[in-house]
Amino acid sequence: MDNAHLWLPYTQMKTAPEPLRAVRTEGCRIILDDGRELIDGIASWWTACHGYNHPHIRDAMEEQLAAMPHVMFAGLVHEPAQALAAKLAAKAPPGLKRVFFSDSGSTAVEVALKMAVQYWRNRGQPRRTKFIAFHHGYHGDTMGALSVSDPRGWLHGASSQYFPLQYHIDIPLDELSFSEFRDILDDIARSAAALLIEPLVQCVGHMRFHSADVLAEIYRIAKEHDLLVIADEIATGFGRTGYFFACEEAGITPDILCVGKALTGGAIPLAATLATEEVFGAFYGDELTMALMHGPTYMANPLACRAALASLELFEQEPRLAQVARLEERLREGLEPCRNLPVVRDVRVKGAIGVVQIDPQQVDIFALRSRFVEEGCWIRPFADVVYLMPPFVISDEELDHLTGAIHRLLSRSET
Ligand SMILES: *Cc1c(COP(=O)(O)O)cnc(C)c1O
Repeated sequence: MDNAHLWLPYTQMKTAPEPLRAVRTEGCRIILDDGRELIDGIASWWTACHGYNHPHIRDAMEEQLAAMPHVMFAGLVHEPAQALAAKLAAKAPPGLKRVFFSDSGSTAVEVALKMAVQYWRNRGQPRRTKFIAFHHGYHGDTMGALSVSDPRGWLHGASSQYFPLQYHIDIPLDELSFSEFRDILDDIARSAAALLIEPLVQCVGHMRFHSADVLAEIYRIAKEHDLLVIADEIATGFGRTGYFFACEEAGITPDILCVGKALTGGAIPLAATLATEEVFGAFYGDELTMALMHGPTYMANPLACRAALASLELFEQEPRLAQVARLEERLREGLEPCRNLPVVRDVRVKGAIGVVQIDPQQVDIFALRSRFVEEGCWIRPFADVVYLMPPFVISDEELDHLTGAIHRLLSRSET
């Protein structure tokens, strides 16, 4: 068995080290084919919030697998989708009552963009086709989603000339920049359908934080300018920032909300775009041309819906948000000693997200990845951040092992 037929993501296949081969997962661990066990500090791209192979999710999926693994979702619906849509609507910020299912975060964003543009067209304002998005934002890898992601930097690779042009601006963080933000919106809002934001934490864009007050003020000013607001909670949703949804901390209800990643607890792909009745209402009419023309083949896959339902039940049956609060404290304690290291620029923690920002000139990120594996840790630093976004159920010992390894390796990696 070799990798002759594989093409890996974000990878220079010629120079990248051999990927490791995983054979099993268990709790918060990934087990490799040579028997080594790695403690997963990043929950498989932020999905496995209950750890791996949770029996409650597995049982639900096994039952669904026997009954109906899949059925198309046009003209047919099923109980898992109905129950999940109802549950998501109940858990989301108040007012987000309609749920459109899809299969990945990027698609959930594409759907949100289409909803926003057509919302205005259906309401007689067809020129509102642009989007206002923030520097350091990331909303997915497909064309539309990348067009609203930060165009500077590595994300776009060499293909950005194909994308529609959008407005990219800084997140306003103080009074002066808020007045500038308002001026910019005065100029451009009339040509824009919506403003997009990753609430509280811009994850792929170097794990940058802004406060709930800043988020609330951005929302207020966007609404003053009659913009739709799209919250991309694909990374922040399901407890990651300490609230079930990050928007809750700012007390806002976006017009459209995207979820993905941890929706099924990391068991199987599923994503969703939630909309208010106001947005849904703009599509509700006699003409097919007013309808939302989108429909992924595996939309609302029953197996995935059941996994998501089981995952949401776990948030009710087990003290997940309390675990996140504890994790926040322990991440703070564990990472704080890194602050004094010469290669470290900043240490910050929000919910179950711990970030050590380093000077990339002084640290070889790729070498560091291999060192972490040698320490029994699955931690994947990128750009200028070494970060942890572990499963919420990680034990104190496992977490301390991860934070200890970060401190130890960054102590050694001076110049
Ligand atoms: C990961 C991510 C996406 C894209 O999700 P995929 O499932 O990889 O398509 C979009 N937005 C945010 C904020 C993300 O973190």
